Amino acid sequence: MTEPVPAATEVVEPTECPRCGKIEPLCVCSEIEPFETRVSLLILQHPQEQDKALGTARLAALHFKDAVVKIGLSWASLSKVLGYTADPQRWAILYLGSARAEELAPDRDLVVLDKKGQAEERQSAVLRELEGVIVLDGTWSQAKALWWRNAWMLKCRRVLLNPSQPSRYGNLRKEARRDGLSTIESTAMLMSRIEGQPQIEQTLLDSFSRLLDRYRAIRKTTPGFDRDAGSKRQKRPGQAKSMRRRRFRS
Ligand SMILES: [Zn+2]
Repeated sequence: MTEPVPAATEVVEPTECPRCGKIEPLCVCSEIEPFETRVSLLILQHPQEQDKALGTARLAALHFKDAVVKIGLSWASLSKVLGYTADPQRWAILYLGSARAEELAPDRDLVVLDKKGQAEERQSAVLRELEGVIVLDGTWSQAKALWWRNAWMLKCRRVLLNPSQPSRYGNLRKEARRDGLSTIESTAMLMSRIEGQPQIEQTLLDSFSRLLDRYRAIRKTTPGFDRDAGSKRQKRPGQAKSMRRRRFRS
C-alpha cells in the first residue's frame, strides 16, 4: 500500500456526533424520535462507502427502533448478519436489477417481484408476511458488489421502488446511486409503504432536507468544504491506522 504521506500541518477536524457520525455542523439527529415498526430494517454498508458528509445510512436507521447498519462485504447468511435465526424468504431486499417498476406496475410505487423478475401476484400478502427489509448502502457499483458477494440475497424477496420525483440530492452527488435515490429516501419510501404510515416518509425526508440545507450552508461559507467532507475525510479503519502510524513517524 503506498499512500501519500499527510502534510505536517493537518487541520483539526471538528467533533463527530457519536449517534449519526456526522461532524457537529451537519448533525440533525438530536430531535429524532424513532418509529416503532412491524418490520425490521437492515442497512448493509459497503466498507468503502466514503461519503461521510452526505451519506445517510446511519441517519436513516436512527429513525427506527428496530434498525441496524452493518458494515462489511460478505456474510455467510442473513442469520449471520443479524445474529439471530431469520428466514430470507420473509425478508425483502431493495432490488438492484434492471426491472423497471413503472413498466411492471405503473400504479404502484412499491413493487414486489417474483423469481422471474415479474410483478408478484400477491403483492399485499407478501408485504404483510415480511419480517424485515434490507437496503444496500454505497455507490451503485458498491451496492452491486454487495449483491454478488452475498448469495443468500438471492433467497430474499425483491422489491422495487417507483419514485415519483428525483432525489433531493440534486447536483450534490456526482456518482450514480441505485434508483437515483439516497439511502434515506429509499428507506423512507420502503418503510412507509410497508408499514402503512405516511408520516415515516415525511419525517425521514424532513431530516434529509435539514442535512442538505446545512451542507449547502457550510459549503457557501467554507470554500473547499465538499472536498474535505467527501472522500478524503473518511478512511477505512485499516487506512486510518496506517495514516496515523505514518503521522507519528514523520
Ligand atoms: Zn448526530
